[in-house]
Amino acid sequence: MLKELIYGNTRTYLIKGKKGYLLIDTDWAGTLPQFFKALKKLNITVQEISHILVTHYHPDHMGLAQDLIDLGIKLIVIDVQKDYIHQSDYIFEKEGNQAFKSIQDDMVLVLSCNTSREFLSELGIDGEIVHTPGHSEDSVSLILDSGEAVVGDLYPLEQIVLYDSSILIDIWDNLLGRRLNWIYYAHPLPDNVSAWSSIEEYKLSLS
Ligand SMILES: [Zn+2]
Repeated sequence: MLKELIYGNTRTYLIKGKKGYLLIDTDWAGTLPQFFKALKKLNITVQEISHILVTHYHPDHMGLAQDLIDLGIKLIVIDVQKDYIHQSDYIFEKEGNQAFKSIQDDMVLVLSCNTSREFLSELGIDGEIVHTPGHSEDSVSLILDSGEAVVGDLYPLEQIVLYDSSILIDIWDNLLGRRLNWIYYAHPLPDNVSAWSSIEEYKLSLS
């Protein structure tokens, strides 16, 4: 159900809905040709992508957002992300990235986590979007009822003991409590987490 689309340093994902694919994340600004090439390899056309969700607005996750909007793909912005969609603009400006297009605020589709299940269900995707801060304030994750979760740059379970952060522990407790199978990160490899249903269980497995 989930397809990996890699054309740079970020793992992006495609989830098939009834109206087209939902794309999770993009890579750096200027990678549009590579994006098209990678799509072609999967035998998918850009017209088959209906929506995009950016897990958080760091430059290696949102670089092509406006390019994709211009191609007719709708950008879903969660309300907790609204104040952050321009936080990476200065990075592209600083590197003199000619390809970068700043997101046009009036072209995005703002949703809340609470209404995400209903919205996704209209797309034919069973799941919800949850706020998973920690790596950044605006980080969100897509949790599918199939037991797969796309979490962007959320710090992996294995690192929880290093960070000792109550926010992270709560997020992971919530994720594991949903009896997930696979966690899909934007950088490390996907991880099978089906063995644990809580942080407590996970910690016990380490001892
Ligand atoms: Zn990041």
